[in-house]
Amino acid sequence: MARYTGPVCKLCRREGIKLFLKGDRCYTDKCALTRRNYAPGQHGHTRKKPTEYALQLREKQKAKRIYGVLEAQFRRYFEMAERQPGITGENLLVILERRLDNVVYRLGLAESRAQARQLVRHNFFTVNGRKVNIPSYLVKVGDVIALKEEKKDSPIAKEIMERAASKTLPAWLSYDANNAVGKVEALPKREDIDIPVEEHLIVELYSR
Ligand code: SF4
Repeated sequence: MARYTGPVCKLCRREGIKLFLKGDRCYTDKCALTRRNYAPGQHGHTRKKPTEYALQLREKQKAKRIYGVLEAQFRRYFEMAERQPGITGENLLVILERRLDNVVYRLGLAESRAQARQLVRHNFFTVNGRKVNIPSYLVKVGDVIALKEEKKDSPIAKEIMERAASKTLPAWLSYDANNAVGKVEALPKREDIDIPVEEHLIVELYSR
């Protein structure tokens, strides 16, 4: 289960926008993009008009980096989105949103998708009462995601339960703070997905 392990703030600097990969730190003035708002590397200050291909590539990289997905898996998601009825770009975002690590993050049970991924890997959650420790697991409508009973006394669980209790949820999820249980009420619509990506550019890139 490969994942990116390099410096994450560099990814935001490369994209020129906050991707919120580090949780709470992203909202403080310690954010690297606030301090150094230019691309990393020797030519980071150089500005030239991007080509159409460069624009398309950047949108794809942005989406991959936000959801913490590497190229091969992202490509598989795209092919899955293409096979579904409807608009391919929107289908792609819906698939990405349905990843278990993203749902845990959206429920407020982790401060970032990276932390959500780690908690899922460390068996903190069940889906419909069964152990699921695969971050890429795709949830369905009606799925119930719960913090495991035996984990609830750990300091990290207490912290995330506190966080989730005050989190504003997207319309497609619900959360019972007393029991630390979330539910997928519906699949997300494009307007529920607040990521700054122009998905049609990703479709254009893969259609070249
Ligand atoms: Fe991106 Fe967060 Fe790092 Fe800022 S602190 S550059 S938003 S990952």
